[in-house]
Order: sequence, then structure tokens, then C-alpha cells
Amino acid sequence: MNEKILEKLSILADAAKYDVSCASSGTSRPAVKGGIGTTTGWGICHSFTPDGRCISLFKILLTNHCIYDCAYCTNRRSNDVKRTAFTPRELAELTIAFYQRNYIEGLFLSSGVIRNPDYTMEQMLRVVKLLRDEYRFNGYIHMKAIPGASDELIAQAGRYADRMSVNLEIPSEENLKLLAPEKSYSEVFAPMRFIQQGMLESAEERKKFRSAPRFVPAGQSTQLIIGATPDSDRQILTLASALYRRPSFKRVYYSGYIPVNRGDSRLPALAAPPLVRENRLYQADWLMRFYAFNASEIVNETHPDLDLDVDPKMGWALRHPEFFPVDVNTAPYEMILRVPGIGVKSAKLIVVSRRYGRLSIPQLKKIGVVMKRAQYFIVNRELPMQTVNELTPQYVRRQVTQKQKNRAAALLQYPIEWGE
Ligand code: SF4
Repeated sequence: MNEKILEKLSILADAAKYDVSCASSGTSRPAVKGGIGTTTGWGICHSFTPDGRCISLFKILLTNHCIYDCAYCTNRRSNDVKRTAFTPRELAELTIAFYQRNYIEGLFLSSGVIRNPDYTMEQMLRVVKLLRDEYRFNGYIHMKAIPGASDELIAQAGRYADRMSVNLEIPSEENLKLLAPEKSYSEVFAPMRFIQQGMLESAEERKKFRSAPRFVPAGQSTQLIIGATPDSDRQILTLASALYRRPSFKRVYYSGYIPVNRGDSRLPALAAPPLVRENRLYQADWLMRFYAFNASEIVNETHPDLDLDVDPKMGWALRHPEFFPVDVNTAPYEMILRVPGIGVKSAKLIVVSRRYGRLSIPQLKKIGVVMKRAQYFIVNRELPMQTVNELTPQYVRRQVTQKQKNRAAALLQYPIEWGE
């Protein structure tokens, strides 16, 4: 690789790390004769960022030049950072080279906005057209849609990409106006609606004609930056829940604000990104998508923010002792699913297994129930422990958080040794 390309790569891959709205999932396209790549498990090279995010895509910006000046962004025009840009062909060639070396399983393509949204979208489109049409690349492509770009360009991009994302970034319109005055919610929601419409039309057409072109088959996602504004978890989760009601929406990503622009008075003075809050939001998101919780059950007017000391499911259970204890041998699946320490897989196994006889504690453990947590919320004839109602939610909370602290202290006492 020549030095010029290497330098561009180091600048633009580094600038892309702040966007978390990507993950390769949701499509299954096998290898085709004469093509390169698949969206299935071959050629995947996983890597992890220091804060634990899995990155298996070639995540890159086309350019870090930007005409906008969003307060939270390292690439904003007022920052004095080294700028560069790939040509579409350079980027396409690099992607193919990495794919063939088995470094990556696909491409996540984003960009700063150069000249105007249409021009930027056109350049990004040229990259994916080169990949698909000229290099016959059949692997996964996640592409950012640039708010303000024309419907025609988004429509073309949707036929080449597996997934598209339009980042909302800031969870409320008023705070977006404050931090990114050149952007607006209406400009962000317009491409989201257009992508959804394209997906629905494509699904209808494919029912009639199997060969009809696919449009963003892996759906769309978005990113919300957490902690750059005083927006509450209630605002964030209510927004996410509304997005999940849209048929095209697959994922909302939560990204703890990384204080890259210290000294901007519109931003809070954070020492570090709020990673615990970010983690709690992912857990709450999981509850909405897989545990049939409504956003209003997890956070409400009285509790607008998630409890950072306990996970959101435990938090809900402690606020609602009236629903407990749950009898694992008779309760409906939906209630078993709400017991802290019981996951989706364990809840399903409980419902199937109890058909053959009453479940004992060893059986529950074998099924995967985490008894340290579940013991306060279930009943079973053999269970000697008292439940949350006898012990009080405050006592259970103390027990659970103390165990977490002890575990953390034990880890510090016995540091992990790496290597041999
Ligand atoms: S438009 Fe995107 S790249 Fe440009 S400053 Fe805003 S967030 Fe950064």
C-alpha cells in the first residue's frame, strides 16, 4: 500500500470510529458464481474497540472534510484537524483488497459533507457502484444516507446497500438545534421515511416477481449520542420505541458522548464518556425488543433516568414488587420473562420443561436461571429463601448491588494475566 493511501486510511478510519450505528446482520446472501464475497459467515475478521464494541466491517469515511459545524463532532469545520478524502476508486480498491485478505466482512461507509449533501451522496454512491458493478462485490455494505440528499440518490443507494442509517445524533429537536444549528429533524426524518417506503414497495414487488430488486434488505438503523445534552433516558427510550414501531427499523445505537471538543460551552464538561449509562440503555433497548417491555414501564415521569446501579429489568422488578413472586411452575411465559435472572432462552425452556413435572432448583440452574438474582422473585416449593415482598425491595437492592461490588473488588484483587 502506498504512503498516500496509508495516510488517508489512518486519518479516515480514525475519524469514523465515533459512529456506532453499524453491525453486520440481517441479510443472508450466498456466494454467486463470478462474484466476490457473501453476507454469511465467511471472511469475517472481528476486532474490538477498547470499550468493547465489536467491529468486523471496514469502517471508513470517504472524507473528513465537512461544511457543517456540529458541536459534538471531531470533523466539524471549525476544528483544526488534518483533512483528507479518498477517491471513490481508491476506496473501492481498498475494500476489495481487505476483503480478499480476510480482514473484513464488509464495508461501513460514512462521510463528512463536502460541497452539499447531493454531491457527497453521489461520491458515496460511486464507491458502492464500483464495488457491486465493477468488482462484483457481494459482501455486506452499510451506508450512511446524508440528510438533505435527493430522493433519487437515496433510492439508488438503497439498491446497492444492505443496510442504511440516518443518524439522529441528538435525542431531542431543541437540543439538535443548539448543537447542530445547520441540521434539522425534518431533514433527518425525510430519508428515513423514504427508505422505509422503498423497503415496503420492494417487499411487495418481490412477492409478485422474485427477481425484483431488493431495497435495503437489512433495514435501517440510527445513532443517538448520549450525555452531550441533558435529554433524559425517558426521552431517549420513548424516541427509540417510536422508531422500533416503524417496520423498516432494525437498531438504535446509543453512543456515550466522547468529549472530543472540550471548551465548547454548549457541551457538558465530561471527564470520560458515560459508558455505564450507554450500557444501561442497551439493556433497556433489549428489554423493549425481546422482553415485551414498553418504554414507559422502564422509565417514566417519576423515574425519568435509568438506575445506573442495577440493570433495567431488576430496576423494574424492584419498583413493582406487587407482580412477584412468580411461580415458575404455573405462571405464564410473559411473567416468567420478567423475572430478573431469567433470559428469553431460559424462560422458553422453563415453559417446555415443566410439562414433564415440577421444576426443582437444580433443574432451574441447569436451564440457565441465575438464582443469585431470581431467588427473590420466584416461588418454588423447595425454595428456602424469602421473596422481595418479605425482604423489601430496598434490602434486595442492597444485596444485589453489594454482590456486584464484591465481584468488581475480587477482579481488582486478582488481575488477569495475559499471555503465557
Ligand atoms: S455533518 Fe456529520 S461529519 Fe459534519 S460536523 Fe456534523 S456530525 Fe460531523
